[in-house]
Amino acid sequence: MNNAVDLPPELLRPLVAAGRQTPAPAGSILARAEAFGASFERLAGDRVNPLSLVIEDVVSPVHAVVGGRPTLLFGTNSYLGMNFRPECIRAAQAAAQRYGVGSTASRVAAGNHALHRSLEKEVAAFHGAAEAIVFSTGFMTNLGVISSLAREGDAIFLDAHCHASIIDACRLSGAHVFQFRHNDPADLARLFAESSIPGANTIVVVEGVYSVWGDVGDLKGIVGVAKSHGAIVIVDEAHALGMYGRNGRGVAELQGVEADVDIITGTFSKSVGLIGGYAATNRPQLRQLRFMARPYLFTASLPPPIVAAAREAVRLIATDPQPRAMLWANAAKLHAGLCDIGLTPCAPPGPVGSIRMQGLAGGYQFWKAALDRGIYVNLLMPPATPAGEVLLRYSVSAAHTDEHIETALAVLRDVSAALKVA
Ligand code: PMP
Repeated sequence: MNNAVDLPPELLRPLVAAGRQTPAPAGSILARAEAFGASFERLAGDRVNPLSLVIEDVVSPVHAVVGGRPTLLFGTNSYLGMNFRPECIRAAQAAAQRYGVGSTASRVAAGNHALHRSLEKEVAAFHGAAEAIVFSTGFMTNLGVISSLAREGDAIFLDAHCHASIIDACRLSGAHVFQFRHNDPADLARLFAESSIPGANTIVVVEGVYSVWGDVGDLKGIVGVAKSHGAIVIVDEAHALGMYGRNGRGVAELQGVEADVDIITGTFSKSVGLIGGYAATNRPQLRQLRFMARPYLFTASLPPPIVAAAREAVRLIATDPQPRAMLWANAAKLHAGLCDIGLTPCAPPGPVGSIRMQGLAGGYQFWKAALDRGIYVNLLMPPATPAGEVLLRYSVSAAHTDEHIETALAVLRDVSAALKVA
């Protein structure tokens, strides 16, 4: 497959530089910024730009108004519908009344509320971990954890499909950074074989569910290789929290490798329906990790209403099996319907998935035609995708009904036929 031909070169810039000393790029900084902006204008012209779409109103986890039209959302991360759960809204309202709407400082200045500590204890208990550290976003969690642990002279091996927050954290650390082939323990073993850096100075970073294709990480294989070399293992469960594993703790729980994972990172912005992130660990040496992480030290903490709603959402995830059951039933239905149309998803059913498009122009046309018919999905392109792929990414929610899924499938069927995609 080569669908990279119509992508602006700026989007294909390698994410992990091959060496630390790279020659100065052509063009001034401002000229480069201008060219980058122009590439997006070329992309959408005066039509709707997928990167700056405005959602005019949101009325439920899966209903919005876009361009004046009622629109079904199949491209958010509200997997369990928690953003509209009455218990969470009530908790946020009560906390806003009682404590105000903002934290106004970092955790180490004046923003470390007792609510933050309660949430951390509850997240730690949920994961069966000794310690949990709450950050202001999932991005900052990865940035803080990885960049504070690794430094020059260390090595980081990361899966080729890892999220931008992990890639940026690796860059920031100053460590030697190498990507292994996606979900390939043998390629990770090759990196260890070729590395002169001891395992104890190496971090392996993977995800439970990779949101690019929606596939599940081979944590058993990868953690096995990493631990045989004595490396530290970090697993980002952003897209798995609440949906995978007997207790909803993620793919590490599902595959029985939690004891070998040194740090789990997660986010409150997806199944938890809010904003925020956390790191959970059982390693006594990592108890003070929060004070090593600059994105913990030097940014404002989560506002009290968000913390209160997160506590409620974590409690619901742990105690209410219904949303999770709905999510999986919906994921299976949507996946089967897509296969029927001939739009083969990149991975088996899951909360998030994607379909390969032929180039950016084709992907844009498909995305826009679906939106015009009231179905919102995501258009993914580099640098969010590997190897220049253009993907139509969809997500499923516990809040979708059979009727919503049938409506979406009917639209996607029509669009596929009109554009001769399937
Ligand atoms: N990790 C992964 C795997 C993600 O997909 C994302 C968000 N897309 C993040 C981290 C960042 O999470 P947040 O939105 O909470 O910053």
